[in-house]
Amino acid sequence: MDNSDIMQQGLDSLVADEIIAYAQRISSEGFTKGTWGNISVLKGEHIYITPSGQPYDKLKREDICILKRNGDIVYAKNKPSSETALHVKIYESRNDVKAILHTHPIYSTVVSITLSSIPPIVEDAVMILGETLYVSEYALPGTIELAQNAVRALSNNHCAFLKNHGLVTVGVNLQEAFVATQVAEKTAQICIESLKLGSMSTIPHEHAIKLREKYLQSYRQK
Ligand code: 13P
Ligand code: ZN
Repeated sequence: MDNSDIMQQGLDSLVADEIIAYAQRISSEGFTKGTWGNISVLKGEHIYITPSGQPYDKLKREDICILKRNGDIVYAKNKPSSETALHVKIYESRNDVKAILHTHPIYSTVVSITLSSIPPIVEDAVMILGETLYVSEYALPGTIELAQNAVRALSNNHCAFLKNHGLVTVGVNLQEAFVATQVAEKTAQICIESLKLGSMSTIPHEHAIKLREKYLQSYRQK
């Protein structure tokens, strides 16, 4: 599908280009190894999503799959991501979410294996991600059950750790979802390092509420 075909169908080639740019960033920053992980954007009534198991450095505009909001294929040269249900269910449950990144970063995965949540320990995590960050119940990757468990763990936050698996982050756009991935991974590392030294002190609940609100209100006004 070239640019004119996409335009003819009222679809947006710029969205596909942006997904490819962030796919390369999640790979170059080491948030995922090989072809694992996936990225989507909700634009109008369409979900644009990476294909399953394709090398990020070789992705072309025409490789990005276009789905209806219920996951039905509108355009796909190759199979859409095996975690399509995860993306569909998150968009269904959160009107504020327009972009999703699923990755397998090391520290986030360690947290998903060893803990059930991360309490409010650092300011940027509380602001950008949420007060308490949850680990989902375990489910087989690529299943509706994994998607449902992730939606529950995400709650109103901007990230959820997927048990024995990895991380999912959300945003109003890919930039916000990407920063959420960076901050979630940093917070997971800080949490692991802190636990090595002793028990963790936490940010008081009233402060956490204020910090989160400040972030949500200021970014939504932009
Ligand atoms: P893809 O099918 O999008 O390559 O997914 C890999 C993965 O991370 C499964 O959880
Ligand atoms: Zn995965």
